[in-house]
Amino acid sequence: MRHVIIIGSGPAGFTAATYAARANLSPLVVASSVEVGGELMNTTEVENFPGFPEAIQGPELMAKMQEQAEKFGAEILYDDVVELSIDGPVKKVKLGSGAEHEAAAIIYATGSAYRKLGLPGEERLSGHGVSWCATCDGFFFRDRVIAVVGGGDSAMEEATFLTRFASKVYVIHRKDTLRASKIMQERAFANPKIEFIWNAEVADILGDEAVSGVILRDTTDGTTRELPLEGLFVAIGNDPRTHLVHDKLELTTEGTIWVDGRSSRTSVPGVFAAGDVIDPTYRQAATAAGSGTVAALDAEHYLAALDDAGAPEADVAQIDGLPEADPVSVG
Ligand code: NDP
Repeated sequence: MRHVIIIGSGPAGFTAATYAARANLSPLVVASSVEVGGELMNTTEVENFPGFPEAIQGPELMAKMQEQAEKFGAEILYDDVVELSIDGPVKKVKLGSGAEHEAAAIIYATGSAYRKLGLPGEERLSGHGVSWCATCDGFFFRDRVIAVVGGGDSAMEEATFLTRFASKVYVIHRKDTLRASKIMQERAFANPKIEFIWNAEVADILGDEAVSGVILRDTTDGTTRELPLEGLFVAIGNDPRTHLVHDKLELTTEGTIWVDGRSSRTSVPGVFAAGDVIDPTYRQAATAAGSGTVAALDAEHYLAALDDAGAPEADVAQIDGLPEADPVSVG
């Protein structure tokens, strides 16, 4: 049995892995079979992660985080969790390969997924004019004409933020009223660089090497027209990846995993959650890394308390070939 299994390989998962490994907990990271590194793998330059004043490519940053975790002894498995059993003191993690692993603690850091429009051009032109993150990519659209899709707070926030760079920002919304809060709406309405296109949905994204425009379909009469653009930001919501724990962990009304205050403790003892899967608001690489840190420290506390109590079923000192957990080193 392991001390701790970390599920997820974004900034939260790998940071938790580094801390857990340095605490001598020999973590196993289930990193996914296809999407190792999380959302940053879809980003180009990351300019706002502390410590990289010259910017760093998203995939390179994630490779460095993985390297750092492995350097201290984290073991990475390129597989997907298909089933979790977390009720008792021994947590069981079943993988797509059929293998099963056991641990005294779980850190759940599966992130969130940007909702997609589901258009063929969206994937193809991702990173070439199509983006889901204004704070990550807005800077690259200086003096360009771009559009944001969506009518919620995210779309208003992104559109307003993007006016710092773009010469014009269209907001494309499928209805004639917004879902966004009044204050965010008013801010967007008052911005001279923002123009709303109502009752319209994006039917196609145009461009070979980079976005050159979109085909808009009027949602009231079905007519279509072309709108030339150099960038398209999709801001139609975000879903925390909680499908493995829907009926096992308490969730919030926003759909994220509930945690106790500023800790990473979920409704089940020994299960900790970190990163976007607990965060409906900030969703930044740096905040996810901080959240992963919290989860590793919480898991370390939990394991040390188990050890002190001499819990028989989860006696982490009996883990084959693994060292005992270091004494808890946080106040
Ligand atoms: P929301 O779910 O609130 O809004 C999504 C928007 O995208 C809606 O206008 C919806 O249209 C539209 N949409 C959904 N699917 C499609 C589609 N397939 N094609 C076209 N349009 C689509 O998500 P947000 O990310 O905006 O907000 C999530 C939460 O985060 C909210 O609670 C929000 O308040 C909060 N938030 C708060 C912020 C702040 O206060 N600073 C900033 C950002 C988010 P329709 O209206 O027709 O359903």
